[in-house]
Amino acid sequence: QTTPKPPPQPSPLRNSKFFKSNMRILVTGGAGFIGSHLVDRLMENEKNEVIVVDNFFTGSKDNLRKWIGHPRFELIRHDVTETLLVEVDQIYHLACPASPIFYKYNPVKTIKTNVIGTLNMLGLAKRVGARILLTSTSEVYGDPLVHPQPETYWGNVNPIGVRSCYDEGKRVAETLMFDYHRQHGIEIRIARIFNTYGPRMNIDDGRVVSNFIAQALRDEPLTVQLPGTQTRSFCYVSDMVDGLIRLMEGEHTGPINIGNPGEFTMLELAETVKELINPNVEIKTVENTPDDPRQRKPDITKAKELLGWEPKIKLREGLPLMEEDFRLRLGVPKKK
Ligand code: NAD
Ligand code: UDP
Ligand code: UDP
Repeated sequence: QTTPKPPPQPSPLRNSKFFKSNMRILVTGGAGFIGSHLVDRLMENEKNEVIVVDNFFTGSKDNLRKWIGHPRFELIRHDVTETLLVEVDQIYHLACPASPIFYKYNPVKTIKTNVIGTLNMLGLAKRVGARILLTSTSEVYGDPLVHPQPETYWGNVNPIGVRSCYDEGKRVAETLMFDYHRQHGIEIRIARIFNTYGPRMNIDDGRVVSNFIAQALRDEPLTVQLPGTQTRSFCYVSDMVDGLIRLMEGEHTGPINIGNPGEFTMLELAETVKELINPNVEIKTVENTPDDPRQRKPDITKAKELLGWEPKIKLREGLPLMEEDFRLRLGVPKKK
């Protein structure tokens, strides 16, 4: 029988006077959509040093180009399913493809990333005494039978479906986080992220907001997957980054939902994109994929009470900000 080990102590060097006010922060998946916005925010604080590790599966160096060569920044090509040796104070663990097209492309790799990748980052956190935040997902609620979803809901997930590598992968990742917390005293934070959108999303990554905006700009029909009455709640990326940092800096392990409770059907989203971006574009319905959740909306009572956080940017304000970025990248200037 093993007795629980005492919580790890920060290394004496990192705790010394010289380093006291400095923070060395690891961001896994920092070359991706949310990760690169998080890095931007962390780098604004001159006391932070940021290390990004990423295997560039869905992320890109381009997202970090303004920091490459900066003395407080380091970018390492690395796969989190392999052992990583670095000395850090905090770990934001985001590495994992988030778009269904990409996480279904190599499902075995997706589950390895979620399970072995999270295990490795927890082993690292244990060795160096770092606090670690996992970006989990609203997908842990599956096709929810409770609406909106509070953190106390255990979910309705198909364990053997085509989305399971992601949903169940994240559920195991959450379990690992709590087991390392209880067994080894690791300081953990779990964010359950709901659908997030904004500049730098992969243009062709298949997620609904990026699809609709790219289609509207290319004058192609907006593809609403059937039945079109399924709902999602969309959070603008700057609000998301705010929530993640508050969770990391606060005193609560979570899990805490971070998302925007504004709920839309996919048909409503298509109508909104049409109205704001291209009133002439056609809307068509297409086949859906298996196990698509029918409804999703975060209960953010906990985030409000424990983190003092709530989203500020409404969908109608966020879409034009994303449109601007997509126009630049697609080379489609706004008509005067
Ligand atoms: P993204 O695909 O843009 O970013 C993921 C990053 O992780 C990419 O840069 C990718 O190259 C990297 N990566 C993937 N596998 C890796 C591996 N094995 N080793 C190292 N790097 C690896 O996705 P995102 O939207 O920025 O999502 C970031 C995190 O937030 C993910 O953990 C995702 O599950 C979670 N999340 C996102 C959303 C959303 O709506 N965007 C919703 C819920 C949860
Ligand atoms: N690990 C890592 N970096 C570290 C420490 C550990 O990547 O700095 C990995 C290590 O390869 C191991 C995992 O984290 O596979 C879990 O480590 P832990 O020490 O908890 O377990 P053990 O090595 O005893 O199985
Ligand atoms: N969807 C759609 N058209 C598209 C892409 C997606 O109608 O071109 C729908 C999809 O069926 C789902 C919702 O939009 O109901 C959100 O899908 P996404 O892949 O963006 O995220 P997730 O399913 O992970 O929430």
